[in-house]
Amino acid sequence: MLRRKKMNQETSAKSTNIYALPILAEDLQLSHNYGELPFNSHEGNLKYAVDFLVPELSQVVAALGGTVVYVKQDSDVGGPDGKYWNDGNRIVIRHANREYSAYEHLKCGGSLVVVGQTVECGQLIGYSGNTGYSVGPHLDFEVFVRPVLDESEGETVKPGFVDYSFEVGKVITSKEVGNEKANSG
Ligand SMILES: [Zn+2]
Repeated sequence: MLRRKKMNQETSAKSTNIYALPILAEDLQLSHNYGELPFNSHEGNLKYAVDFLVPELSQVVAALGGTVVYVKQDSDVGGPDGKYWNDGNRIVIRHANREYSAYEHLKCGGSLVVVGQTVECGQLIGYSGNTGYSVGPHLDFEVFVRPVLDESEGETVKPGFVDYSFEVGKVITSKEVGNEKANSG
């Protein structure tokens, strides 16, 4: 079983495919009190990962149609410590143009799909959580190329989104999608 590891390679590519948001914009929170630590874990191959600030059990949807190639949903642990690096629940979907999308930190048992399943853009695939290397509930979304053997990870590229363009490394809150509503719940 391949373990996640930080690989020190810089890529400067943008995605060929254009992706929809992997969460519902209305679930985005305005702010958080998690502190800084988790959001500077995006380095090396994870440089272009995008963090969406949504509460636990928020709907996670396929950002583009494709085939599910990897599912991990057995973890119930997480926290602001690198020791949880491999404990994040995760779904990976393979798309056209040899690109993949990944959905990380999902809830324990939070996957609604299985490996080999074909999904459509916008299809509900699971529920967000706070598992793995994470200080607070959010969804880590990645578009990657050049996958490792089990297709669970690879070199991230800057995702192109339908209707939105996000700054690299910025946490996506309700503000970034033009909706300054107060935090729900
Ligand atoms: Zn992240």
